[in-house]
Amino acid sequence: MAFVYAVPLRNRFRGITVREGVLLQGPAGWGEFCPFADYSDSASVPWLASAVEASEIGWPEPVRERVEVNTTVPVVAPERAHEMVAESGCRTAKVKVADPRSSIVDDCERVAAVRDALGGNGAIRVDANMAWDVGTAVKAIRELDRAAGGLEYVEQPCPSIEELAAVRKQVEVRIAADESIRRAEDPLKVAVAGAADVAVIKVAPLGGVRRALEVAQACGLPCVVSSAVETSVGLAAGLALAGALPDLGFACGLGTMSLLTGDVATASLSPVDGYLPVPRTAPAPDRAGDFPADATTRDTWLARLARVRALSIS
Ligand SMILES: [Mg+2]
Repeated sequence: MAFVYAVPLRNRFRGITVREGVLLQGPAGWGEFCPFADYSDSASVPWLASAVEASEIGWPEPVRERVEVNTTVPVVAPERAHEMVAESGCRTAKVKVADPRSSIVDDCERVAAVRDALGGNGAIRVDANMAWDVGTAVKAIRELDRAAGGLEYVEQPCPSIEELAAVRKQVEVRIAADESIRRAEDPLKVAVAGAADVAVIKVAPLGGVRRALEVAQACGLPCVVSSAVETSVGLAAGLALAGALPDLGFACGLGTMSLLTGDVATASLSPVDGYLPVPRTAPAPDRAGDFPADATTRDTWLARLARVRALSIS
């Protein structure tokens, strides 16, 4: 059984306004196949492996029952940032910085407001999404670290692994690699290059929970599990990974349900007091019928699924 969904996003993300994908049902439950549009068929093979693992095999036993998650603060005014963090119930906030719409002064003000809302025991991480060159990154990270009263880490300050390594040598703050990790071999490259202290990993691009566990172990870096902005069906796989990792020292980026305008499951995986439960299977998409894709979108996805399936077998 395969159901193609289309759920509108609250805000544009990666150039899209609607999240689409296919929900697959098998003997072990439900899986979600939802590579972004810029993924080729061959790059989508691990995404299918992840959905097939969830629906046909199931996940390894977890070592914890719940996972702490961060709240995300977009480019908003300091007062709004304060409000969002206070309302979230999370102890960790990820603040978007280095956006073209915002200066380093704005970023520092926003980060300071987040610190005020979190208090001294909270953790603040910033995400620059590759925006800086090495020199700009070093300067900005020092200023943001001061404004934050200490940063937990900086996510992807620059585009390349070499630049991350260069920045890492010059700042005290931990560096996390996110965009540098898109395939299973990437975390190892990042670790070998001394480019990061933390690896941001996602289940689907790495080919499922078991494969991601192997990758995490092989790279030897502390991992933060993040979502690919899936519905609760795909988020459950991220939680299964976070639940099974032997060490989990940082809050995960799995509290992303709020980026979508709705969910395909009644048992939606939205954080409560900054935590999400580790499910044994994905929640049944009993509300998928609320988010049907139109006929063209459905045909496009089913054709894509068939092509990726053929590639997976060959
Ligand atoms: Mg990131």
